[in-house]
Amino acid sequence: MNSRTELSSAGPSGLGKIVIVGAGPAGLLLALMLGQQGIPVTVLEAWGRLDERLRATQYGTPATRVFRKAGVLDEIRAAGIERFPSISWRKVDPEQTRITGIDLTVTKDEPDRTTVLPLNLLLKILLEHCKRQSSIEVKFEHKVIEVGQNESKAWADAVMPSNERKRFEGDYVIGCDGASSTVRQQLFGRNWPGITWDHSLLVQNVFYDGFTEHGWSGGNYMIDPNHWGLIAERGKGGLWRVTYGDIGGLTHEQYLKRREEHFEAMFPGHPKPDQYRVEQTDQFRIHNRCVEKMRVGRILLAADAAHVCNPFGGYGLMVGVLDIDGLTDCLIGMHQRKVGDEILDKYAEIRREKFLNYVEPRSIKNMNRLRAQNPDSALRDDKFLQILAHLEKDPEEAKAFLLKFSSIEHDFKQYYII
Ligand SMILES: Cc1cc2nc3c(=O)[nH]c(=O)nc-3n(C[C@H](O)[C@H](O)[C@H](O)COP(=O)(O)OP(=O)(O)OC[C@H]3O[C@@H](n4cnc5c(N)ncnc54)[C@H](O)[C@@H]3O)c2cc1C
Repeated sequence: MNSRTELSSAGPSGLGKIVIVGAGPAGLLLALMLGQQGIPVTVLEAWGRLDERLRATQYGTPATRVFRKAGVLDEIRAAGIERFPSISWRKVDPEQTRITGIDLTVTKDEPDRTTVLPLNLLLKILLEHCKRQSSIEVKFEHKVIEVGQNESKAWADAVMPSNERKRFEGDYVIGCDGASSTVRQQLFGRNWPGITWDHSLLVQNVFYDGFTEHGWSGGNYMIDPNHWGLIAERGKGGLWRVTYGDIGGLTHEQYLKRREEHFEAMFPGHPKPDQYRVEQTDQFRIHNRCVEKMRVGRILLAADAAHVCNPFGGYGLMVGVLDIDGLTDCLIGMHQRKVGDEILDKYAEIRREKFLNYVEPRSIKNMNRLRAQNPDSALRDDKFLQILAHLEKDPEEAKAFLLKFSSIEHDFKQYYII
């Protein structure tokens, strides 16, 4: 294996280069927000392309605010669907009876309203913006296999398809390399506290006229012990995303066979397979995990590399985006000599606490709300559904609820000394 080293290029201000591992949404957003401030960034991505799997689609108000700050919000809105009028919780009975929900049209004129765009399209927008910044380089087919550090720098060793090994040095290395993070494993081995659920998650892009014919729109959470999940309008041209949980341990073929039964039970009109078209299917394990530290010296972790949760409630990338926003403010403060690198300890502690104290319990509740309660008594038993039922009667209160400053946000600029 050939080996070369790319040296850190210290700029005239506080920071030299930042090396980011992973060109997922977290890595590209971080690169973009740092690059916009003239901080030199190298992004190392293992794959030769952006991720096309069916994952995030919906980003709540806190993430939307960061997209605006990064200058990408208008393009996200133009590429996505604007019509996302409500989120409902339903039973899986013959009529898919609506239990309650929240009317999102109360925020339709608000700049911070929820954003809806499949992740693959979001990634394209972020990459295009990165390409416009001369201080950002994104290197595909650079799989990081090792990271290291000393007192003055950190580095990531990447291998290319030619088997050449190259070292990338910077002031800091940021692991944005997702749930199977090599950076995290380099720091902590297999220690990643939390749980992996027994279920599998089946996710598919579906075209079925029956959704609109039966008056469905927006997002529809299905509460049922056997057919729990989310059916949501996700893209232009009648694209819907259907996500449901199934028992663990089956083969992919077995899951596909069981899909007909799930769709028939969950979809309005109870269709047979010749009445819908499935365009893409992906399968995931479900985890709720958080690393013990998000900083070890000059190596930091962000987003899924640090913490993951089940996707119900749309917390995964939203909290990742808030990690990136916080980390960006910390690094920019250091670059502009407004604060020392102790602010990175604040980032590591506070973002981890936000995940453990708010995101983790809420995301578990969100999933259990669908799979582990009696749909017939859900409104009586479930406080959150009761709050929604109350908000449905008061549009002003619903609006305030949707736009409020969330407990998962945190302003790191308050720690700037000058
Ligand atoms: C079914 C599903 C639905 C979801 N829905 C939502 C939603 O609606 N809203 C929401 O906010 N979140 C949602 N999420 C969560 C969201 O998709 C993730 O939180 C988000 O993609 C994490 O972004 P990331 O950049 O941290 O990691 P990733 O998206 O995993 O990106 C990591 C990148 O790092 C690269 N990489 C990995 N290892 C290496 C290496 N060794 N060297 C170099 N590169 C490497 C990978 O190839 C990848 O490109 C959902 C997740 C799932 C599974």
